[in-house]
Amino acid sequence: MSLSIDVFNSGYKPIPDPPGWTAPQQATWPATTASLVAGSTDALLVDALITTAEGERLASWVQESGKNLTTVYITHGHLDHFFGAGPTLAAFPQAHLVSLPEVVREARRSAQSLDNWRGWLGGQFDEKAATPTALTSEELEIDGHSVRPLVLGRSDGVVNSVVHVPDLATVISGDVAYNNIHMWLWRSTPDTRTEWLATLDALAALRPERIITGHKAPDAPDDDARRVLDQSRRYIEDFDRAVADSSSAPDLVGRMMEKYAAYGNLYTLLAAAASQFDESTQSNGS
Ligand SMILES: [Zn+2]
Repeated sequence: MSLSIDVFNSGYKPIPDPPGWTAPQQATWPATTASLVAGSTDALLVDALITTAEGERLASWVQESGKNLTTVYITHGHLDHFFGAGPTLAAFPQAHLVSLPEVVREARRSAQSLDNWRGWLGGQFDEKAATPTALTSEELEIDGHSVRPLVLGRSDGVVNSVVHVPDLATVISGDVAYNNIHMWLWRSTPDTRTEWLATLDALAALRPERIITGHKAPDAPDDDARRVLDQSRRYIEDFDRAVADSSSAPDLVGRMMEKYAAYGNLYTLLAAAASQFDESTQSNGS
């Protein structure tokens, strides 16, 4: 039996009291995915969201698959991709929460500095959530099929790994690529944007047909790799140019909205734009 992949999308989460937010619309956290790669009996979950409530929904969804979950693999060290794993790990006590060593180091560091996350989603996640342990092999196996976690480089502030599923010409990309949703360029610099573009090149070099992105608009039309790669590259390049050409955050937002008004999660763009003109937040990723 061949592998299959099912995708859970969290949808947008209201951010009750976002720091520095003055826009009239409700600020939201970007819609985030978790992907179940399943064989005939076993399954691997890639990423696990952040809040306890969505973690519980995710655990039920995995249970409904009827598969034996052996592994929860975390693509990168941002808490919105693994702090929601608790309910799933409770439902599948034999499953291991793992990632590659570079990611594990960053995930542990992120779990020690919760201030930004409290500002966004405080009270909604388990502050003592488990962090992943380091994989000792370069391959994961599901019912005899091999899938490969690979570190591709830095993306939105941290080292990002992906899960390559060669049988299905699919890559589960974490935050290396985004699908029809504003990209997390908060506190990015020209250098980090250049690094991110190189990471996208490394993703393209895997020659996937399908890319399942860590953040995806629930109404995105498909996971077509070429479309996702092209739009992710173009967005970063356009943002980089717009930063250079803009004199203020609203100016930058206006330039981006000329091209990307249809994208999901405006808060991501407003926060990214504000960070480019706020000297106290210039310097590094989260
Ligand atoms: Zn993310």
